[in-house]
Formats: sequence, structure tokens, C-alpha cells
Amino acid sequence: MDYCCLFANQTPAEAEKHMAFELIEEYGRAFYATDGTIKHYLFTRDDGYRELQRCRRCGALFLHQHSEHHSPNGANNYYDDYFQVASHEEALALNEDYGGFGLEKSFTGPSFRRAHSKSETTLTWYRPPLADARLEQLIQKYRSGEMRKGDLKGLSEDQLRIFIKSVVAGNTTVKAAAYSTWKKDI
Ligand SMILES: [Zn+2]
Repeated sequence: MDYCCLFANQTPAEAEKHMAFELIEEYGRAFYATDGTIKHYLFTRDDGYRELQRCRRCGALFLHQHSEHHSPNGANNYYDDYFQVASHEEALALNEDYGGFGLEKSFTGPSFRRAHSKSETTLTWYRPPLADARLEQLIQKYRSGEMRKGDLKGLSEDQLRIFIKSVVAGNTTVKAAAYSTWKKDI
């Protein structure tokens, strides 16, 4: 599985700025057993839901778990976890196997979390080593001028990383001209 281009950013804050997800499927608040009873809830704390989302930039799929902690004084906390999955089937299997906290504890793949309250937002991620040696190699090639820069001359290093990740992930919607130049090297 290719990691989402999101994880090619330098920091979770940069990644959040570049997030462009679309909703694929809603899974609701609970997972039901075949007899119709609730097996477990698909969130932690007081309320929430899960859904499948897709990165518009590279096509990576994420099981998104939204959880809410309700406070009597109105100072609620919200948690949005994005667990990257390889397929729709993997998301369904995780829904069946794990309730809210179970999923948080068991998931070992790449993930991104936004925790927010009235006063602050905290962004964290778990980023397995990116396909990485390869990404670094390409960056080096770019810096040393071995790779034709073309349209990419003005890009910052962060943008460049995203671009390379997108191309590696097979996203052909990135600037077509640059893509065809780069694809030869990638
Ligand atoms: Zn992506």
C-alpha cells in the first residue's frame, strides 16, 4: 500500500493544510450483530461515527472515526482520527472487529489525528517510514540538478515532496507537462 501524499509533508500542520478528502461511505454510530443488537459503537466517549474517506490528491482511503466528549459546561472535546486502509473491505473488517478505543489501540498503519476543543486544536500523526529511501533519493536528484526541473522550479521542498508522492502513487492529475517529464525518472 502506498502511503497517502499527506504523510509526505514535514509536519502534521502542513499536512492538514493540504488535506482534500471526499466522503465515500457512511458507517454510522454502531456495528450491529446479525441478530440486530449493537456489537459495539464506532466511536470513543459519548458520541460519534465512522465513515470512509478518500484523498482527492492520491486516492488513498481512510477510515475516519469522529468521537465527541460531552462536558456538562459545554466545553466539548472532539477527536477526528484518520486511519489509512488499503481497501473498502479492510474498513469493513475494522468496523466489525473493533469498537472506538479498540481501533485506536490496535491500528498500526499510518494515521492522522485532529483533537480540538473550544480553545485549542492539536494535530498528531503516526507516519511509518515513507517509501522513503526512494523519496529522499528523488529529492537529492532534484537538488543536484540531475533531474530536469521544468515547471517545478518554483516549488518549495514541501510541495516537491507532495508532488513526488503523487506521481509515485500514480496520480496523473498533477501538472501534466511536469508529470510526463518526471515520470521518466520516477
Ligand atoms: Zn493523499
